[in-house]
Amino acid sequence: MIAPEAVEKMAAFTAKCIDMWIKFFDKYNITITIPFHGFDDRQVSIWWKYIKDYVKVTRSISLGGMALRSHAIVDNIISICRRIRVSIDDIKHVHIFGLSSMRSIAFIHLLETFINKKVTYDSSKYSIVLRVSKLHLPTSMNMYIRIGRKGLSKNSNIKSLTCHCPACMRFFDGKIGEHLSSRLMTSLHHALALHNLWTIIMYIDKVEWLRATNRLEEYIVKNFPHGEDGIKAMKTMLEGGEVVKEFEGGRVKYKFYTSSLKRWFA
Ligand SMILES: [Zn+2]
Repeated sequence: MIAPEAVEKMAAFTAKCIDMWIKFFDKYNITITIPFHGFDDRQVSIWWKYIKDYVKVTRSISLGGMALRSHAIVDNIISICRRIRVSIDDIKHVHIFGLSSMRSIAFIHLLETFINKKVTYDSSKYSIVLRVSKLHLPTSMNMYIRIGRKGLSKNSNIKSLTCHCPACMRFFDGKIGEHLSSRLMTSLHHALALHNLWTIIMYIDKVEWLRATNRLEEYIVKNFPHGEDGIKAMKTMLEGGEVVKEFEGGRVKYKFYTSSLKRWFA
């Protein structure tokens, strides 16, 4: 656990950096989002003290790095909501860095509905610079094949894999599996990055359609492990409650409390 003094030091340094850039916000029409970190209420409270005046100017916060430390989606939801509820009156826009798994996308779009503010996120899944480490399967965004320097993950059906997205049709004549089985070349990464971008866009379309027809919650509950917990965590945290993660018999269990541990905000 990071000591409060260390959080104080990091927040003060961040504020100093923001101070340098905030001048450009008025001068040019650019977006500046204020980084908002902290694991628990106490750390969030310290961080908020240093950034709140800047947030009132930019009306925008960004979450990532220290704020999102877990691979477990529910933990990240708790983390995100903890910061949102503190800053909710001052913000118009929340940006979430590097959280773009299939589950994350579905939850983030639902979060936008719950808080009624603009929520954006980014992804490295179609970044050519990173040389595309995961290839999302055209049949399901939930499944992917690991590619890259360490080679392909073991999958016996890989050779017969086909995809009819514009990138795969243009570069592989739809037969993406045959190309993956052969030696990876630099030019291939561009095509794979475009394939992933296309797959993500198609998935976002689906999520937005589910949201528009009021079925996104139902979809999350049915399709993702801890989906129901995630939605409940979002609602509980945004209503000022608390969610605690516990392990029972080696299994993760979330406990929901309607009242917040408000000791740091009293
Ligand atoms: Zn494709």
